[in-house]
Amino acid sequence: MSRPLYIYNTLSREKEEFKPIDRKNVRLYACGPTVYNYAHIGNARPAVVFDLLAKVLRYIYGRRHVTYTRNITDIDDKIIAAAKETGAEISAITEKYAKIYDEDMAALGVEKPDHQPKATDYIGPMVRMIKKLIDAGHAYEAEGHVLFNVPSWPDYGRLSRRNRDDMVAGARVEVAPYKKDPADFVLWKPSTGDQPGWDSPWGRGRPGWHLECSAMNESINGDHFDIHAGGEDLIFPHHENEIAQSVCAHGGEAYVNYWMHNGYLMAEGEKMSKSLGNFYTVHELLDEFPGEAIRLLLLKTHYRQPLDFTKEGLAEAKRELDGWYRLKADAGHVPPALIETLCDDLNTPGAIAALHKLSGNPGALTAGANFIGLLQQDPEDWFKWQPKAAAGGLTDADIDAKIEARTNARKNKDFATSDAIRDELAAAGVILEDGAGGTTWRRG
Ligand SMILES: [Zn+2]
Repeated sequence: MSRPLYIYNTLSREKEEFKPIDRKNVRLYACGPTVYNYAHIGNARPAVVFDLLAKVLRYIYGRRHVTYTRNITDIDDKIIAAAKETGAEISAITEKYAKIYDEDMAALGVEKPDHQPKATDYIGPMVRMIKKLIDAGHAYEAEGHVLFNVPSWPDYGRLSRRNRDDMVAGARVEVAPYKKDPADFVLWKPSTGDQPGWDSPWGRGRPGWHLECSAMNESINGDHFDIHAGGEDLIFPHHENEIAQSVCAHGGEAYVNYWMHNGYLMAEGEKMSKSLGNFYTVHELLDEFPGEAIRLLLLKTHYRQPLDFTKEGLAEAKRELDGWYRLKADAGHVPPALIETLCDDLNTPGAIAALHKLSGNPGALTAGANFIGLLQQDPEDWFKWQPKAAAGGLTDADIDAKIEARTNARKNKDFATSDAIRDELAAAGVILEDGAGGTTWRRG
């Protein structure tokens, strides 16, 4: 017996009861980051929201019956531009930022998905999919490009419900002489000598972004799977194009049953921009606030609503967590009412309100907060946490590393170094206590 889960399906614009294709293998895919820079807080919203959805699905169907995939886009014109600008190798850039992304999301309590495919590992399946689309009359080659021919598929536009003029305007399509129709989009494009490229029947080139998700899903989730998720800004053209590619490559078979999209994120009441000073990367926010405060703030707004992310809101979320950490106890059972609330299209504001009513039942509060990815730390560690600036720019990890260096120096009888480290930490307000079990520290 499982409780019904209702989710809002962008395809139907209605809340629907979720019915998996195979309850022994429930498949969820979310579009992941393009790794050439630090993730901003808008990028963190889908990661947190769909991490919670995966938790709910695992609770209902069992951990081993849910497959959650979130990809990494490691080939993209923005990445190529970043490599040119910095002089770094493309692989060095993508590996660096993929690792930072994973670390930053882990700090927000986001579990690693079951699969984290990298686009460049799926070039073979992408080339095969393009061949199928050409053979089926849905794609054509022109001047080293391969394009999907939009008029070849009458269902195009069903997800975004756009008419043709909106589509052409919304895609900001390049008017290219080789296109049969202005709405046609790129499946493959040629690479010049200094651009990364792969050999293909159409010459050396690289895939279009939309194709990546179609090919990775075909390889991992099969032709037809349950839930595809992403930010609202991906509905058109990214997801619209993904549907066209997959359905047409698979002989017209259905592709995804439920499409879920999170709403926009603003910061301090405005669209995030570097010039307004409200462009928040997760990496920098983590110097100022604990990851759980960021997670709580992201979940306090329902995922489909626009979210205004503010520092004041973060400070408030931190205070709420302080209160809960004072009550933290051994986890009891997850309150059924909490699960029921989440099963109503991931009603996180309702779930958080329910947690606030549980202060008289610390075991249930702890279990419920744990379920949504909060109260994961020892209260002692939680209250020890300080913003980086308040501790002479030192994070807990920095302090641990310095203490280890000091311990090694002492072992080597290099007392000049060990004393220097102690003085440096003291100047930053960190007090060391040497005991039989090693060195402990606290912030003074
Ligand atoms: Zn995608």
